[in-house]
Amino acid sequence: MTLKVAIVGRPNVGKSTLFNRLVGQRLAIVDDQPGVTRDRREASAELAGLKFTLIDTPGFEDVRDASLESRMREQTEQAIRDADVSLFIIDARAGVTPLDERFAELLRKVNKPVVVAGNKCEGKAGEDGLMEAYSLGFGEPVGLSAEHGEGMADLFSGIVRVV
Ligand code: GDP
Ligand code: MG
Repeated sequence: MTLKVAIVGRPNVGKSTLFNRLVGQRLAIVDDQPGVTRDRREASAELAGLKFTLIDTPGFEDVRDASLESRMREQTEQAIRDADVSLFIIDARAGVTPLDERFAELLRKVNKPVVVAGNKCEGKAGEDGLMEAYSLGFGEPVGLSAEHGEGMADLFSGIVRVV
């Protein structure tokens, strides 16, 4: 059985950027398959030789819309349940937000392995926010820059540590 990894977190933290980086060109193949919904993208991915199935979760921009938020929660909860491990992404430049806390509650409820990562860590702008991520209670946060491809070795170590 292939390891299943879900990328979860509030909109705009860089989930899809990370997904695209880890999936690379393989996505094109998967998109042609029937049953791949727009709301939840799934593809085979690789990180430092570790092969796994990666699930991206949707972002709904307007979280003030209660029905959109509940849909986002449902999609995320399903992805967490389907996966062996979740990558919980926050924006390290923004620090931990109230919406991040709600995703953390969801992850605690499902009670499966979680790797917390602070994205947008290139340069020094993410240092304080990354430390705040300790408060989420999922252990040592991994600093990432999905856009620049930084922190991928630490992400690998983080995944291997919890599975
Ligand atoms: P999602 O809503 O969580 O899927 O986030 P996206 O992947 O769509 O990215 C949201 C925004 O953050 C986009 O403008 C990205 O270009 C930007 N972004 C993603 N990763 C990084 C990063 O590592 N550093 C910075 N500075 N911006 C990033
Ligand atoms: Mg996205």
